[in-house]
Amino acid sequence: MKLTKNLYVVGGGRFGFGLSGELDCHVFVLDGGSELALIDPGLGLNDDFETILQNIRDDGLDTRRIRKLILTHYHCDHIGAAAEAAGRLDVEVFASTLAAPVIRNADEKAVALDVAKAAGFYPQDFHLPPCPVHREIHEGDVLEVGDLRLQAYDTPGHCDGHLSFTMTGGDRNYLLGADLVFWGGKILLQNIHDCRIDAYAGSVFKVADLDFDALVPGHLQISLRFGKQHVTRAADAFRQLGVPANLV
Ligand SMILES: [Zn+2]
Repeated sequence: MKLTKNLYVVGGGRFGFGLSGELDCHVFVLDGGSELALIDPGLGLNDDFETILQNIRDDGLDTRRIRKLILTHYHCDHIGAAAEAAGRLDVEVFASTLAAPVIRNADEKAVALDVAKAAGFYPQDFHLPPCPVHREIHEGDVLEVGDLRLQAYDTPGHCDGHLSFTMTGGDRNYLLGADLVFWGGKILLQNIHDCRIDAYAGSVFKVADLDFDALVPGHLQISLRFGKQHVTRAADAFRQLGVPANLV
């Protein structure tokens, strides 16, 4: 589904637009002109990733032009399909330095898959397949996707190794925020080992100072304009030493 000249949403489940598997995060294609990038391929149950590829084709895009697979953080609803995507597409895989070994080793404990299964979020027989990571991303790194320029920011709090990106060079300035901040200034704290409130506040303050108009999160509503207000709202709550509203 084409949202702008540079942004397509090609997958997502119950907390998205129902374009692919029920548990999939928003799956995005970035169109930089000479190449495409795929952001977070979803959970990858059954043939859900095939559905995503078909959605991309239905949008008139050639999947052979996807040259980068960018993983924002290691939660399974975002990267369960990464191994399949890396196997089926001619892509370099990017993840944060902290997330990369976890993804390569399919460390189910580190990604809190055990507790997420116990809580009923994922099927009991789901296992995370290991996926190669070719490029480890550090704060300040810039990835180019054709004409688009993605600048990486470490944004822990939702989990360790979480990345957000500003995207410039296209039709507007974007924040690709993954699970950092959502519409209405909500955040996603979970009772898992690497969810940290103080780090979360620091990450929200960091992105609140960045220049963007579109807020593109990993779930729920997407704001193509006026996106900054949602981050400002979350930052204001943290500045009062409180906690923004939580998604769950
Ligand atoms: Zn997450």
